[in-house]
Amino acid sequence: GDELVQSVHRIMTHADAARRLAVRANADTPEDAARARRFGAQGIGLCRTEHMFLGERRQLVEDLILATSDAERVTALDALAPLQRADFHGILKEMDGLPVTIRLIDPPLHEFLPDLTELSVKVALAGADASEKDRRLLEAVHRLHEQNPMLGLRGVRLGLVIPGLFAMQVRAIAEAAADRLAEGGSPRPEIMIPLVGSIQELEHAREEAEGVLAEVGGGVEALIGTMIELPRAALTAGQIAEGAEFFSFGTNDLTQTTWGFSRDDVEASFFSRYLDLGIFGVSPFETLDRDGVGRLVRIAVEEGRKTRPGIKLGVCGEHGGDPESVHFFHEVGLDYVSCSPFRVPVARLEAGRASVETAGSDSR
Ligand code: PEP
Ligand code: MG
Repeated sequence: GDELVQSVHRIMTHADAARRLAVRANADTPEDAARARRFGAQGIGLCRTEHMFLGERRQLVEDLILATSDAERVTALDALAPLQRADFHGILKEMDGLPVTIRLIDPPLHEFLPDLTELSVKVALAGADASEKDRRLLEAVHRLHEQNPMLGLRGVRLGLVIPGLFAMQVRAIAEAAADRLAEGGSPRPEIMIPLVGSIQELEHAREEAEGVLAEVGGGVEALIGTMIELPRAALTAGQIAEGAEFFSFGTNDLTQTTWGFSRDDVEASFFSRYLDLGIFGVSPFETLDRDGVGRLVRIAVEEGRKTRPGIKLGVCGEHGGDPESVHFFHEVGLDYVSCSPFRVPVARLEAGRASVETAGSDSR
């Protein structure tokens, strides 16, 4: 009982004193943020905002997708703006004084569109009585349908294609932070651009974000950075660092795109055979593949630091909470790992062990 709790507490205290890596959590709600803090997270490394567009808000997203004029689009975005401002306020409040990396929307588009089959059946059954909205939706779903949504209109691409979408989110972040400042809080938002493959993409998104931050003013300061989750981003990290104050490695997508394995389907098909054959000992989605994906991470760390020596480096893929991978991230010299709140204690412990094991040989 008490003794066990105390010895665990002692071990964690040692690990925390020893470790060089900071540990943050992935959290999208104030509840998760609070849980993360209780587990000892030192901030949020990934707040996925796409989840905030589902559920009851789907209606508003449909209005956005259906908008055919600037005015319609602005109306749709204006309806989402106050909801987002409240979302970010809640999270910044819960994480007061700690960094909160908010990633601009990165939806696989198919998750936002109504189901094609369902909608087709609905419209077909209704016949002449089908609503105008459903007809237009069906047309839009057809138009936006992609064979490979995970390689499609995602991440920064969506932000560059739908004018005002990223700006709405950045404004909501800035206004929420300004609200916190007015309440006497210490908000530390970091704005993260997803799925960037080139400095040009990042520059477009960053300029838009900087413009909005300047407009809102109010003494709000926010870092702007990017995910590194495509091989091209890793290979051109030296250029990308010109426009990024931080990198966060998205090792889920980076593993998917480096191996060419689908994140979503692979477990069911040939992975067990690959494990049997010893092609790998453990799924590369679980433990970071040092030779391939890890090599890209190393390249990006080196190139990024060459361009911008003080660049902040972290990881927010599932690997951030995997013990073996945490050792790797320590070795390559990241500043922090970010993982699910429940994994935070494990990450703290492993980060401590990694520091102790490399003490003496640690050049940093
Ligand atoms: C990643 O790709 O590793 C990542 C953290 O982003 P997501 O899982 O949301 O694609
Ligand atoms: Mg990703």
